[in-house]
Amino acid sequence: MRNLKDMVVLITGASRGIGAATATVMSKYGAIVVLAARSRHDIENNVQKIESSGGRASSIICDVSNYQDVKKAIDFCIEKYGRLDVLVNNAGTIDPISKLSESCPEKWSQAVDINLKGVYYGIRCAIPVMIKQGKGTIINISSGAANSTLEGWSHYCSTKAAAKKLTECAHNEVYHQGIRVIGLRPGTVATDMMSKIKDSGVNKVSRLDWSVHITPEWAGEAVAFLCTSGGDPFVGTDFSIKTEEGRKLVGLEKCTKS
Ligand code: NAP
Repeated sequence: MRNLKDMVVLITGASRGIGAATATVMSKYGAIVVLAARSRHDIENNVQKIESSGGRASSIICDVSNYQDVKKAIDFCIEKYGRLDVLVNNAGTIDPISKLSESCPEKWSQAVDINLKGVYYGIRCAIPVMIKQGKGTIINISSGAANSTLEGWSHYCSTKAAAKKLTECAHNEVYHQGIRVIGLRPGTVATDMMSKIKDSGVNKVSRLDWSVHITPEWAGEAVAFLCTSGGDPFVGTDFSIKTEEGRKLVGLEKCTKS
């Protein structure tokens, strides 16, 4: 069992998928979780489920592409719980899957607003709070796409690569002030995003057999691991649970999926 007792954790994109599972897993380890997303009904439902299992949770509506929304979510944590120990920048989108030549400029830009600017807004708002506290952890949900080139995913590969650079830049600036900034590469995960990828039929990821995808709970376990001292060797970089070694460190069952 990891001990995250009384840690205040804000998770963006916590209405479903990896974000929702991360909230549940971290609550299981004793954290107070704040679930942020645009879908009010879903985050309120997730809070109810956590509370009915004895956990402590709150929800706040937040569109990460809006700086004021992100600031409000962080202010909410401070006002309600007095601090922010962990920010998980998880909200993300794979829309629109399309070749560059056919892509919609507005939708492409929206992916930048969510996958890149959303992460920047979170880091921008969390760092001053964490500097005041003298400590804190920021986890950015990264992707193998940060380092690869996949047809139809120009928006996703570009924004994830840029967000990885933000992890490195933030680490460089605030590591000496006690703030840990780490990226997590979960590998492929069975979520709504992966269903969209499969339905698109574009590039090799869409053709993977569904059975190779890990569950969102595994990604949640990895986030929880990174919040402990076990994550210290990975600050400033992306930690991957695609590898046997990464999964072992997190304590995930023996890997049968790649
Ligand atoms: P998902 O099932 O589609 O969930 C995406 C989450 O992001 C939802 O909770 C959604 O909530 C939220 N979101 C989207 N736009 C938002 C916005 N503007 N403001 C606030 N929240 C927003 O996707 P997932 O697979 O769980 O992905 C979560 C993260 O993991 C993403 O960053 C993704 O890039 C990354 N990732 C996923 C995989 C994978 O295989 N699934 C692999 C590597 C990395 P609302 O719509 O309610 O706002």
